[in-house]
Amino acid sequence: MKIESQLAQIGSIKEPVTGAISFPVYQATAFRHPKLGQSTGFDYARTKSPTRAVLEEAAAQLEAGDAAFACSSGMAALQTIFALFSQGDHLIVSLDLYGGTYRLLERIMSRFGVTASYVDTNDIDAMSTLWTPNTKAVLIETPTNPLMMITDIERVAAWAKSKGLLTIVDNTLLTPFFQRPIELGADIIIHSATKYLGGHNDVLAGLIVTKGKELSDEMAFLHNSIGAVLGPQDSWLLMRGMKTLALRMERHQHNATTISNYLLEHPAVEDVYYPALPHHPGHEIQNKQSSGNTGIFSFRLKDARYIEPILRHIKLIAFAESLGGVESLMTYPAVQTHADIPLEIRQAIGVDDRLLRFSVGIEHADDLIADLAQALEAARREIEEVQ
Ligand SMILES: *Cc1c(COP(=O)(O)O)cnc(C)c1O
Repeated sequence: MKIESQLAQIGSIKEPVTGAISFPVYQATAFRHPKLGQSTGFDYARTKSPTRAVLEEAAAQLEAGDAAFACSSGMAALQTIFALFSQGDHLIVSLDLYGGTYRLLERIMSRFGVTASYVDTNDIDAMSTLWTPNTKAVLIETPTNPLMMITDIERVAAWAKSKGLLTIVDNTLLTPFFQRPIELGADIIIHSATKYLGGHNDVLAGLIVTKGKELSDEMAFLHNSIGAVLGPQDSWLLMRGMKTLALRMERHQHNATTISNYLLEHPAVEDVYYPALPHHPGHEIQNKQSSGNTGIFSFRLKDARYIEPILRHIKLIAFAESLGGVESLMTYPAVQTHADIPLEIRQAIGVDDRLLRFSVGIEHADDLIADLAQALEAARREIEEVQ
């Protein structure tokens, strides 16, 4: 079945008693045992819960994995994955990383003796140099955010396999609608489902998808033991959002492509970082491994003085953190999402004081362009007045 149909039908044939098309919210933590030694399949909701189970089954199928685990946030999902590792273990991680993942590794996992090295994951030689006998996994984001760097998943996964390492892919930005890393050799997928999967800026959630029985069993043990699981109401809300994922991603891609081209031509803009643009260094790999492009991109102004007035003058577009929702949001990575990443690293990768990140919503592109145009024009006038 095509992914559009799988998405629209999440949970719709799963309710055996009433035939409800929308799978109900089972707001229950305990389940009666028919008799000693018997179970309905549900015992206690941290281990398995009916509404969450329907979501998890759908997520595993969409990502071509064997099992999925719904967590209370993307960070909870990452923490659960990192519990695979023990004192002394080492990870190789994408350079331009989500700030929260960097913080979890550097401020928390480091206290448990798990270390990480950050590298351009297209540079296999650099990765080989960083490899030690204690290296256990490679963690990649592709595209990264905010600079939208692309990693060749198949190439990294093949290298990782040759070294006996797990390949973990954060697939938040493309979702299984556009990219399925397990089919390219990855072992574990993590999602901040708060973003495109949920899609409405109203539910915080994370997903883990695993390939292989041993890894799936281990993850089930960690998910239940740590307990950072998603509740039934939020599981339902996430499924409700996922049903329209295909339509939303197509519109996000269309809008982001149209608007990135507009900004590329704008005299105040130095460059636009969006893999759909032919001049983007990751354009070819992106086209090879994904069937489409995400709805976020970043752009660099020629003059840092534009930043403050743009953020003050945008009206339809909200100045807010997060991404992947139907509403357009703009953020300033250097002081918001990436504030926890040290200045030297931020500057080395290009997250500087002239960079804005735009999560393009599903509004009409003409209205979004009009909003950007008036904000850029208002900023230009203010700067001229000061001079
Ligand atoms: C938001 C985000 C996370 C963290 O997810 P939360 O749901 O906010 O906990 C992890 N990775 C990426 C790429 C993200 O965008």
